[in-house]
Amino acid sequence: MIAEATRSELARARIAEARSLLTECHLCAQHCGTDRLNGQLGVCRAGSTARIFSAQIEVSDELELLPVFAIALSGCNIHCDFCITGKYSWNAESGEVFSLKTLAQQAEAALASGVRSIMILGGEPTIHLPTALEIIAALPEAKLIWKTNAFATPQARELLDGLFDVWVADYKFGNDACAKRLSQASDYTSVVRENLLWAGEHSELIVRHLLMPGHIDCCWQPVAEWLGNMQVKVNLRSGFWLGPRAGKHHELRKPLTPDELNRAQEIAARYHLRLIQ
Ligand code: SF4
Repeated sequence: MIAEATRSELARARIAEARSLLTECHLCAQHCGTDRLNGQLGVCRAGSTARIFSAQIEVSDELELLPVFAIALSGCNIHCDFCITGKYSWNAESGEVFSLKTLAQQAEAALASGVRSIMILGGEPTIHLPTALEIIAALPEAKLIWKTNAFATPQARELLDGLFDVWVADYKFGNDACAKRLSQASDYTSVVRENLLWAGEHSELIVRHLLMPGHIDCCWQPVAEWLGNMQVKVNLRSGFWLGPRAGKHHELRKPLTPDELNRAQEIAARYHLRLIQ
């Protein structure tokens, strides 16, 4: 576990630099270049003030991390059409402006009740990097997890170096065409792979992939093949649920079939993936 003092000091020392980056925002690979400190909005439509749409104990993440106190920041940068929390998580104005002191007290109480780790997530937390650093600086000692869609820039991720025990990162799409059709991410594959390689070298890494109906061959197959060379823990999720916008894609209107599930497992076995629950 990273010592609290070191982590708090590291995070605090980086807040000013992270905030200065909002004047021409390239925190994520959308590269909007907007001046968020002066009212301009990029793809994520987040200003300079972060809000939290949820801060609570959760039990739906990886078993080895549970129970987790999850701090969810509002706003997202890639807006996947199948997102089931998009109603709240996409809107950077949803939720509440919060007190760091109160949040730290909530985290303290959660840890006292038996929580094993604290997770910072979104939406996408990268878009609120200055606030994330403020939160980290204020949090009590605990196993700390960064839950991300891995669409950050080197500029952003380097400000996170040494702060997290675990990165839980999504690798959603196996090719750029599916990423572009189902989300707002361009150049998805190269950006995500670069971030996953970096995360694997700088912390423990767990990669998540949500199986999508009709996307076993085009998405899961290439994701699995690439992950097979990384020797990381992989959480293969089969609980696809039709999000509010997923219905505009014909293949997402039906559930995963037993055949698709079987083929997904065969692919995982073929590449000797370290599957976890
Ligand atoms: S965080 Fe990403 S999406 Fe948001 S303004 Fe910055 S570059 Fe654009």
